[in-house]
Amino acid sequence: MYLKRIELRGFKSFADKTIVEFKQGVTCIVGPNGSGKSNITDAIRWVLGEQRVKTLRGSKMEDVIFGGTKHRKPLGMAEVKLIFDNRESFFPLDYEEVEIVRRVFRSGDSEYSVNGMACRLKDIRELLMDTGIGREGYSIIGQGKIDEILSGGRDERRLLFEEAAGILKYKVRKVEASKK
Ligand code: ATP
Ligand code: MG
Repeated sequence: MYLKRIELRGFKSFADKTIVEFKQGVTCIVGPNGSGKSNITDAIRWVLGEQRVKTLRGSKMEDVIFGGTKHRKPLGMAEVKLIFDNRESFFPLDYEEVEIVRRVFRSGDSEYSVNGMACRLKDIRELLMDTGIGREGYSIIGQGKIDEILSGGRDERRLLFEEAAGILKYKVRKVEASKK
């Protein structure tokens, strides 16, 4: 499994539709300060279910929508698509490619879909849980994350190992079942 492509439209500084293709192996994104490198990782986190606006470097969710410039009006919607290679059935879905899409409108409405099928954030969370790429995963190591892991308490560190071992999903289901 690997991330093949990201398509952004109206997300932060990417007002126009922008496609970033990744090959297998290492890809580096370089560019001057403020050119949008971190906005690309924000976009990935966002589709993977990030709801904490601080982690997305904003103060409200609307901040992910292109806010306009001197020469251009703000947009009403942000959309990001992540396209994963699934030839090895990493995701338990019968598709060679898995496309996860998230949209948000200024009204606050959000939409998610997987391969064109509308779904809830909860479904995305379930799909990604224990894969290491979910919100609490370790696929994106941001500034300060290593420190956080090293200086974190036993419980936080345990969570990381549980996600890696693939048992977090069962713990979450157990908690949900006991609520019913
Ligand atoms: P650095 O090298 O300093 O880390 P970077 O390439 O990572 O820079 P980003 O932080 O990704 O840069 O991009 C910051 C730019 O994105 C700023 O110019 C900011 O104005 C712009 N930006 C952020 N949110 C929005 C938004 N909602 N609408 C329009 N532009 C935005
Ligand atoms: Mg940056």
